[in-house]
Amino acid sequence: MFARRFSESSYRRSQAATGVPVRPTAIARGLTLRVLGAGEDAAERERIAQHLIDELSREAGLPPCQVVVPDRPQVHRHDGQRLQSKTYGYYTYRLDAQGKVAWARIRIYHRTAVQQRVIAPKVFLNTLLHEWTHHYDFHGLRLPRSYHTAGFFARLRALADALEVGYVLPPEADAAGPSAGGAASAD
Ligand SMILES: [Zn+2]
Repeated sequence: MFARRFSESSYRRSQAATGVPVRPTAIARGLTLRVLGAGEDAAERERIAQHLIDELSREAGLPPCQVVVPDRPQVHRHDGQRLQSKTYGYYTYRLDAQGKVAWARIRIYHRTAVQQRVIAPKVFLNTLLHEWTHHYDFHGLRLPRSYHTAGFFARLRALADALEVGYVLPPEADAAGPSAGGAASAD
């Protein structure tokens, strides 16, 4: 989305931090199950996902993060024959003049790119936890960049395991190296 300079120190620190970002409460675990059971209404999904993110952010001492679930297909490129890329969701934040977080936002599209079906509950939850891990990277670990390192996926997995929903993640973390990420946004 934005061309940004690769930050080697961010990458190394991201690799090294493999622990769980937060020790979730029973409330967070309950909300996680409610996200999985939220059904096919985008507004309801958004509402419950917001409660979960509020709970995780509060426990982790992070600034609030808004969740937006547009009832729209994922952004994608299509060459006429096959899907070339797609984005389940992304994370953005802005700082105010004092360097404090003015706002932070997770956006997750409610429908698949081509067939425009409602995305599966596990995919939705996986994406939600993934984007919140970016929020944690920037404002918990205070990394200037949030990369998809092996450490990033270890944090995500530790979080999902602590929430007792490790099964929503793919079996192998696909740590692809320094691809996405940025000071203000990440896929
Ligand atoms: Zn990401």
